[in-house]
Amino acid sequence: MLPEAVMKQAQQEMLDWQGSGMSVMEMSHRGPEYTSIAQKAEADLRELMAIPDDYAVLFLQGGASLQFPMIPMNLLRGKSKADYFNTGAWSTKAIKEARRYCDVNLVADSTDNHFTTIADSNDWQLSADAAYVHYTPNETIHGLEFADIPDVGDVPLVADLSSTILSRPIDVSRFGMIYAGAQKNIGPAGLCIVIIRKDLMGDVLPGTPTMLNYQTHADNDSMFNTPATYSWYLAGLVFEWLKQQGGLAAMAEINKRKADKLYQVIDSSEFYANPVNKRYRSWMNVPFTLADDKLDKVFVQQAAQQHLLTLKGHRDVGGMRASIYNAMPESGVDALIAFMNEFERQHG
Ligand SMILES: *Cc1c(COP(=O)(O)O)cnc(C)c1O
Repeated sequence: MLPEAVMKQAQQEMLDWQGSGMSVMEMSHRGPEYTSIAQKAEADLRELMAIPDDYAVLFLQGGASLQFPMIPMNLLRGKSKADYFNTGAWSTKAIKEARRYCDVNLVADSTDNHFTTIADSNDWQLSADAAYVHYTPNETIHGLEFADIPDVGDVPLVADLSSTILSRPIDVSRFGMIYAGAQKNIGPAGLCIVIIRKDLMGDVLPGTPTMLNYQTHADNDSMFNTPATYSWYLAGLVFEWLKQQGGLAAMAEINKRKADKLYQVIDSSEFYANPVNKRYRSWMNVPFTLADDKLDKVFVQQAAQQHLLTLKGHRDVGGMRASIYNAMPESGVDALIAFMNEFERQHG
């Protein structure tokens, strides 16, 4: 979901942005109007996440998936090994791509428990000579989320925050780099946000294309080429909206409450189930199965009649998945819970 207030504002100014006589879609990305939109979005994001000055904020394209190769290309910096946590489908994809560029050491691997829990930190295999450590704080498909930021010493920590960025405050100074595709918890698709410590940029693998070098984008305020202007603008409207909601501390309270009440319904019923270790349950993506998977189709159909949409689980996991990102109001979760209770009464 996107916040309704944001979409209404975009609708209102779609044909004529603030008296400029142009739609944002028609502006030159180098003109004064668009420059002010871009700069305000970055400033608001820096304020929301309290991003320190020694970090660059980049507005890139290619999705989170293009970061999978860009990370080793940019962050190996003369080393030949990187540490990766494997906690779900997205970690697995990042690892597969990194293996094309370096030795990947698995710090912890949740494959054998079907991505339902994360190994205790005493059992992690961190390597002394790793160029960086990569992890996926929230696994969108499996609904598995780290409870804390892993302590990896001085090695730069890289996080794929695609499905949990802006859901709560986070200490950016603990990271070498954070990246997030915008389409889950920020705005429309087409934009990938990268927050990177400035000293980590510039020393790329030989043969790295100019466009895949973070330094290129940092040196050009993410306008080395034409950026995804409309997505960037809409992301900026979402940042403004988040500030109006009281910032990330306020969002955290709402998000925690939303997730807690949904898990509560799942756990207190014999009809619904979620297999993830309670300590590592996602606040954003809540997968659940029904006691009889023959009812899955009926559940999705009847839910849609109540305007409860996109609940079908990922094909790797089956069942249902409720993605309850920032813009999902608490009343949306309440409506889902009421529907689940009624469905259980009829079919349980
Ligand atoms: C969706 C997602 C991706 C892939 O994002 P694209 O922008 O489609 O490349 C990567 N990582 C995580 C955690 C995701 O949720």
